[in-house]
Amino acid sequence: MKYLILSDIHSNLEALTAVLRRVQRKRFDRVVVLGDLVGYGADPNPTVDAVRKLKRAVIIRGNHDKVCSGLEAGEMFNKVALESARWTEKMLLPRHRKWLRALPKGPVRVDELFSISHGTPLDEDAYIFGEIEALNMFPYFATPICFFGHSHFPVVFGLDEQALTTYIPTPKGPNGRSFKVKLRKGTRYLINPGSIGQPRDGDNRASFGILDSDRMTMTIYRVAYAYEKTQAKIRAAGLPSPLADRLALGR
Ligand code: ZN
Repeated sequence: MKYLILSDIHSNLEALTAVLRRVQRKRFDRVVVLGDLVGYGADPNPTVDAVRKLKRAVIIRGNHDKVCSGLEAGEMFNKVALESARWTEKMLLPRHRKWLRALPKGPVRVDELFSISHGTPLDEDAYIFGEIEALNMFPYFATPICFFGHSHFPVVFGLDEQALTTYIPTPKGPNGRSFKVKLRKGTRYLINPGSIGQPRDGDNRASFGILDSDRMTMTIYRVAYAYEKTQAKIRAAGLPSPLADRLALGR
């Protein structure tokens, strides 16, 4: 089976379109989306439309989906995030807002092999950045693999009886496009495929993953997209300018 793993799209239609175009010739059995479809970007409705069209998809909500659809007030959000959430809530078509509100909360078990969560398998709003946070979360899922998003940093944590191993994707040179980890039997994994719509690891290209359960490989891909177009839309919408600026830097 091949699974397409998408996370943190954040209303960035150009990035999502570039990713879907890149994978259109690959055959997928299933697609999973780890939440934060909207928030930050200027295209909430076309983004939700595109995600709703994905076939054989399992989708969970993220913290921005909750605030942008009015499920939560966003007390924990910073000023910029809250401003964009308010804007998004106003712009969302009622049918999309209703659909976002009904998205399930993670963790959700997708099959025997993996579960999906937005922040951590214990708390959808909490972050996994480093090894200590990752180690603490392994008891909270039963499957060999758990995917998570929220931090916008692509990373693979593998835990066996000996130790925790951390793989941080470092594309080889400016043309580097993918990073592959061979998954081992007896090792459990926490994997973040990175963010499609607002990468924060210093690489401005959209990040996503593919899990191949026959070959037992996890590959994280990067795709360049026309972020200048996304930036122009964010500025034209009157959204806070740091949301546009950071897309060029991938920070
Ligand atoms: Zn996010």
